[in-house]
Amino acid sequence: MIRVTVWNEYRHEKIDDRVRNIYPEGIHGAIAGFLGMHEDITVRTATLDEPECGLTQEVLDNTDVLIWWGHMAHHEVPEDVVVRVQESVLKGMGLVVLHSGHHSKIFKRLMGTSCNLSWRFEGTDGDMERLWVVAPDHPITQGIDRYFDLPGEEMYGEPFDIPEPDKLLFLGWYEGGEVFRSGCCWRRGRGKIFYFQPGHETCPTYHIHWVQTVITNGVRWAEPESRVAALECPNVKKPTPKF
Ligand code: ZN
Repeated sequence: MIRVTVWNEYRHEKIDDRVRNIYPEGIHGAIAGFLGMHEDITVRTATLDEPECGLTQEVLDNTDVLIWWGHMAHHEVPEDVVVRVQESVLKGMGLVVLHSGHHSKIFKRLMGTSCNLSWRFEGTDGDMERLWVVAPDHPITQGIDRYFDLPGEEMYGEPFDIPEPDKLLFLGWYEGGEVFRSGCCWRRGRGKIFYFQPGHETCPTYHIHWVQTVITNGVRWAEPESRVAALECPNVKKPTPKF
């Protein structure tokens, strides 16, 4: 079984009727709902206002893949929680960062860059987005045809200030003409990281089948290959007799 923890700051849903109407159980509840339908996945949730953000050492030690959604309260996540999550990733825990999580402390720490991007949200629905598959042989794009469309999303455009991805999976195109690296993979230590762009809080994006397919594939891809307490890098004495 893959043990998933879905973390959400869970603030928009409490103060904005539009978001609460789309996600009555919270964004974390919606994501946990579709992931939990799969027999190989067990899922729990954690939110910002829980003690230690719901991310105690025990929770992280029992999490194979952590999903992260945040936007308006990135600055409220304490540094010690961020360091704890980073250390778990370096030891092998998978991390799936969604949408505005690009500006979360944990993503910026793991990337080492500003993670800034161009953006636009106009009208009630934003832009139509077409997500093109650029790596059809990758586990995360399985079950997706050449592309899929989202009727309304926030435009995230290049330049996206990230380190060069180890693998680029999706290229997003918007009706305004912009493009964006919408699905990217990296490794940090033993941990695998997947960033996926869709998921603006006033759009019903996480109810869309193709988005659910990609996130589910992302969880299975990011499952740890190994979990090690610490990498041993000793000072090694020259053997005797010498070669
Ligand atoms: Zn957004």
